[in-house]
Amino acid sequence: MPQLPCYLAWAGPELKRIIQDHLMQSALYGGAISGKGPRYCPSIEDKIVKFPDAERHQIFLEPEGLETSELYVNGLSTSLPPQVQEEFLRAVPGLEQVRMTRPGYAIEYDYFPPTQLEPTLEVRGIEGLYFAGQINGTTGYEEAAAQGIVAGINAAGTALDQESIVLRRDQAMIGVLIDDLVSRGLMSPTGCSLLERSFDYSYARITLSGDCSSRPDGSVC
Ligand SMILES: Cc1cc2nc3c(=O)[nH]c(=O)nc-3n(C[C@H](O)[C@H](O)[C@H](O)COP(=O)(O)OP(=O)(O)OC[C@H]3O[C@@H](n4cnc5c(N)ncnc54)[C@H](O)[C@@H]3O)c2cc1C
Repeated sequence: MPQLPCYLAWAGPELKRIIQDHLMQSALYGGAISGKGPRYCPSIEDKIVKFPDAERHQIFLEPEGLETSELYVNGLSTSLPPQVQEEFLRAVPGLEQVRMTRPGYAIEYDYFPPTQLEPTLEVRGIEGLYFAGQINGTTGYEEAAAQGIVAGINAAGTALDQESIVLRRDQAMIGVLIDDLVSRGLMSPTGCSLLERSFDYSYARITLSGDCSSRPDGSVC
């Protein structure tokens, strides 16, 4: 496939001023939505509020495809009104003449309470239906993948009439994650990333015995 260049740009003081002037018009800061955004994908409003001392924020301009002249503006996700977006885009040095073809928008997650799940990730009372990832209210890649492997193995097991697999807390980080999720719901530390989990007993044992955690059954010596 032919390769196209990406470009770097910087959001500086003028863009910061425009966003500060319109902050309350953003969906999150204005109160239209209350959910947490996707993991590690803060909006430019968020970056400006949380890092007020930063003089500039990096932006990547990425081609949307070979057949289009549209560029994806990576690093400027936002829920501000379209006219404000166009104004702050033009405040980026190099983008003074830009034409916005599609505005950014906010997303808000909805989910099924994960406490309705068995430790196999099967929905209680609906045999053969397994939930993993975003649908359970978790917001990151690692949690989605961890749940997906367990739900997938068990769904296949049900279809093939084989025994279910449940990883225990003392066997695997996935076991800690799923046990917290199905027994405590989303207010537990699992609300954080799997990689940022609070340091509980099971996690400590697994971390300190790294060579053992790579055993096929996840067992700990
Ligand atoms: C912009 C953005 C940035 C993010 N950045 C990060 C990050 O840096 N780090 C991080 O940890 N997480 C990040 N996340 C969150 C992460 O992407 C999600 O938590 C994760 O992808 C959820 O995985 P999932 O498998 O549950 O759902 P998805 O990845 O959404 O997978 C669901 C799949 O089901 C398909 N589907 C839907 N309906 C049907 C249907 N009826 N029939 C067949 N298929 C269907 C969809 O097409 C999709 O492929 C980000 C999310 C967004 C939106």
